[in-house]
Amino acid sequence: MAASKILIVEDEAPIREMIAFHLVRAGYETVEAGDCRSARQLLADERPDLALVDWMLPDMSGLELTRMLKRDEDNEDLAVIMLTARSDEYDKVAGLEGGADDYITKPFSPRELVARIQAVLRRAKTTDGETIRAGVLELDTAGHRVTADDVEVRLGPTEYRLLRFLMTHPDRVYSRTQLLDRVWGANVYVEERTVDVHVRRLRKALTEAGADEYIQTVRGAGYRFSTRGS
Ligand code: CA
Repeated sequence: MAASKILIVEDEAPIREMIAFHLVRAGYETVEAGDCRSARQLLADERPDLALVDWMLPDMSGLELTRMLKRDEDNEDLAVIMLTARSDEYDKVAGLEGGADDYITKPFSPRELVARIQAVLRRAKTTDGETIRAGVLELDTAGHRVTADDVEVRLGPTEYRLLRFLMTHPDRVYSRTQLLDRVWGANVYVEERTVDVHVRRLRKALTEAGADEYIQTVRGAGYRFSTRGS
């Protein structure tokens, strides 16, 4: 299998080169851009699998670039990880747009960066028609059906989308705001309490099917899907 290609969009050359060095060592192919203009050129010429986009760029913000990439059908399969200086920057933005697949706060270790890239690339490969499995659960993305130990779990459309999102993003905590962005959509105005209502319904359905405790409440932070217990 060919190595995944990563586009690094960062204007600070030492940081960009440091990232490229570690990614090459981890077995990835890299292409580098110092601004959005050259990033877009490289996207067209090189067709990377994933773009690492720095928040602060000279000609356009990394967020604007991400938004543009995510809107463009040519980049449908492109995964984007944003690099931010502070995690609250991302939270602020996630509330507005929610375009990136993940974000990493600087400073980060090369090991963390590689782990995040691997996780995002793995997720990006989950496309329609695939079956996602976790513990006793099976989610058939083509038929929109969920089973627990081969027993059908009946879910409403929102609970289904919520479960699909959580199953494809396991072992990570998502705040209510993040879940609203990722499951309901960034421009939909829904109260955060709505998330709790649907989580409750989903939990009830899973419990009835014998698959309880997969959706965990993380006090003060949000929810997490995990089959490893809380
Ligand atoms: Ca920068």
